[in-house]
Amino acid sequence: LFNAVEMAPRDPILGLNEQFNADSNPDKVNLGVGVYYDDNGKLPLLECVKTAEKQMMEAPKARGYLPIDGIAAYDSAVKNLVFGAGSDAVKSGRVATVQALGGTGGLKVGADFLKRLSPNAKVLISDPSWENHRALFTNAGFVVEAYPYYDAARRGINFDGMLTALNAAPAGTIVLLHACCHNPTGYDLTAGQWDQVVAVTKARQLVPFLDMAYQGFGAGIAEDGAVIGKFVASGQDFFVSTSFSKSFSLYGERVGALSVLCSNKEEADRVLSQLKIVIRTNYSNPPTHGGQVVATVLNTPELRALWEKELAAMRVRIKQMRTAMVQKLKAAGVKQDMSFIEQQVGMFSYSGLTKDQMVRLRSEFSVYGTDTGRMCVAALNSRNIDYVCACIAKVVG
Ligand code: PMP
Repeated sequence: LFNAVEMAPRDPILGLNEQFNADSNPDKVNLGVGVYYDDNGKLPLLECVKTAEKQMMEAPKARGYLPIDGIAAYDSAVKNLVFGAGSDAVKSGRVATVQALGGTGGLKVGADFLKRLSPNAKVLISDPSWENHRALFTNAGFVVEAYPYYDAARRGINFDGMLTALNAAPAGTIVLLHACCHNPTGYDLTAGQWDQVVAVTKARQLVPFLDMAYQGFGAGIAEDGAVIGKFVASGQDFFVSTSFSKSFSLYGERVGALSVLCSNKEEADRVLSQLKIVIRTNYSNPPTHGGQVVATVLNTPELRALWEKELAAMRVRIKQMRTAMVQKLKAAGVKQDMSFIEQQVGMFSYSGLTKDQMVRLRSEFSVYGTDTGRMCVAALNSRNIDYVCACIAKVVG
């Protein structure tokens, strides 16, 4: 049966991790990861999560199946977080939200639903994008193409190119947009640029699909979510996937969601019924623990305040690492202007280093980033940053 099965190519990031784990250099640094580490280089366990789990353990519950769309209190907390508590979108019942297996699960449920709804639509993702976007939508049966995004020469966004591509897309094209903290580049659109994108997707009748995997890591929860408000105000129907992997440091619990803004409640009810079929036929219903933790935190005012504080601390630490990196690269003798690192937002930096330079960083100095030059700023800390900057200075000359 399996004679003809080919070996699939290795996941490039996992391959990098394996190489890193096998490296015996005590100074090794892994900047290839997509996770937030604290200043001790450890994956944090947030206090708000610990407290919620303690409360849950004090009143243990049997683990029956959850509803197909997940915990009701979780779905409503997600709606309030993404669209704003008390917002018209939420109050009018126009949002269909389902609990999903991480942000990836939200994207996949959305992709499978869209495939049934618009089987011939094309999907446009940014160039470059999170590496799983293309594979996920391709595996859902779509033809996936890219719109220009990163402008290496300008160290920023090729916004004209992006707008031109969106303007040329046929009606019904699904456009995947990073709501904030673009992965992998770290470059986000300005508020004014978002206004233009919103206007184009509306005028061209495109289907916006916002991937919000880092809400709170850019400028703040409300600030990062502002783009959702722009799409709501424009009167378009659209999709939002949410991930709590980073913002709650709950990577392995697989907590995320898919929300679909519809024209009215009756439409949202019909959409929800279809999302439930997608879920039922894939994995039946979501797991209990992570969703319960997040729902408890988001729906308990003191825990919610604690979460916002802890999330802000992660955001601030990343910003400090960006500032320190710019200063330390300069001090280490890097001549070129690296201040763009401070302008980027979120966990990642497109460093502008070439593939050769990234390979040298790995092979000569045990500093691991992806060949594209992407580095995880959230994996830098006060102990490894000097070493990393000194090594980068050596390879960029
Ligand atoms: N979208 C983007 C842009 C991401 O960077 C990630 C995670 N790296 C995801 C989605 C997936 O998130 P999750 O781990 O919650 O599935």
